Amino acid sequence: MRAVVIGAGIVGLTTGLALRHAGIEVVICERAPEIRADGASLGLWANALAVFDDLAVGEEVRCIGVPTEMYFHDPAGRLLDTPGFGSEDHQYLLVHRAELNDLLADAVGRDNIRLAAGFTAYEEHAEHVTVHLADGSSEEADVLVGADGAYSAVRAQLVPGTPAREHPGHHAWRAVIPATGITVPEDRLILGTHGCRGGYIRTYDGRVYWLLNQFNSPPLTGSPKQQAMERVVHLEGEGRDGVLAGLIDATPEDLVLHNQVMLVPPLSHWVSARVVLAGDAAHAMSPHITAGATLGIEDAALLGRLLTPTGDVPVALAAYEADQIPRYAHIARLSAAVEHAPTPQEFAQNYVAFSHWMISQRPQRPGNNRVGA
Ligand SMILES: Cc1cc2nc3c(=O)[nH]c(=O)nc-3n(C[C@H](O)[C@H](O)[C@H](O)COP(=O)(O)OP(=O)(O)OC[C@H]3O[C@@H](n4cnc5c(N)ncnc54)[C@H](O)[C@@H]3O)c2cc1C
Repeated sequence: MRAVVIGAGIVGLTTGLALRHAGIEVVICERAPEIRADGASLGLWANALAVFDDLAVGEEVRCIGVPTEMYFHDPAGRLLDTPGFGSEDHQYLLVHRAELNDLLADAVGRDNIRLAAGFTAYEEHAEHVTVHLADGSSEEADVLVGADGAYSAVRAQLVPGTPAREHPGHHAWRAVIPATGITVPEDRLILGTHGCRGGYIRTYDGRVYWLLNQFNSPPLTGSPKQQAMERVVHLEGEGRDGVLAGLIDATPEDLVLHNQVMLVPPLSHWVSARVVLAGDAAHAMSPHITAGATLGIEDAALLGRLLTPTGDVPVALAAYEADQIPRYAHIARLSAAVEHAPTPQEFAQNYVAFSHWMISQRPQRPGNNRVGA
């Protein structure tokens, strides 16, 4: 069996690795001329680490991460208590996105990745799929996996009329910077006023990841750094002498990443007989639950379990879709309960209810439940 995977992001690379572990020949086609990752740091939950353990890269991933805990505070520094949940419901591993993608590309084998190979269209036949690329070349496959992100061209052909849409007024700003000259005594995540949340987390290599998000933002003016500075008062108060304000202030303009948050609408189907979507291509969701990558990594693992070298592709893809559509409808309900929580206390409570649900879904196997080393 031969699979073509479109997109060498976290999900495409993990899918390639999972399929190779299943004994399937894989070629990953990536539009960019190099393996890279937009964005700064990324929180991986125990589910993702369990998948990486199964794929024999769990220890390497832990070496590029720092175990961290997701506890929210109010602007005055008080912990927002979440009774009824255990410490494991708050634990995740913070990794640098680009380093994770590089590690995964090495594990997949660079010879199995075609760079500067943008997907344009596919033709599906009874027994195979022909995949057309922007340079005029093509690839033949038994199965085509669209892991090409929120703006997926594979999805545009498989489920027409489903372009990514803006989550209105939802913006994110973030950066990873050296901690030089700034005292960061502890990690801190704050739920503030005006729909703002954010904070800072120390990375495994002595730098600091800061993030700031706002629901229902007023129209943006100024540079991304100015936009973040304007909003930090909603998290640390008027004094502007907080740690987060200091970190934003110390960040060079060109290192501040800004995103208008984009969502993929619920899809009527995720598969045809030989074409399947995974990761953000199928379910780009709001990052307020910080779980899109972890869930996409689980998509990859599921494909790796269902597709086998001699198996029936349409049967495997139908089983994948039957599992995923109701699962993501449930995730959407849990995510909405966090987003629309009427108070910061309820946001924190609903958030940990989501993470508890998510990590309790993972396969319980010895050795794959650890977040840290
Ligand atoms: C602000 C923010 C913070 C987040 N924080 C977290 C977090 O802490 N934890 C978490 O789990 N998730 C988080 N997420 C979500 C996470 O970033 C995404 O879910 C994840 O990156 C999706 O991975 P992917 O591989 O599906 O897509 P992408 O990372 O978008 O990768 C898609 C790849 O496909 C390639 N591609 C696109 N079109 C084509 C084409 N036509 N041909 C070939 N290649 C193509 C792209 O170049 C890219 O390499 C966050 C998201 C945002 C916006």
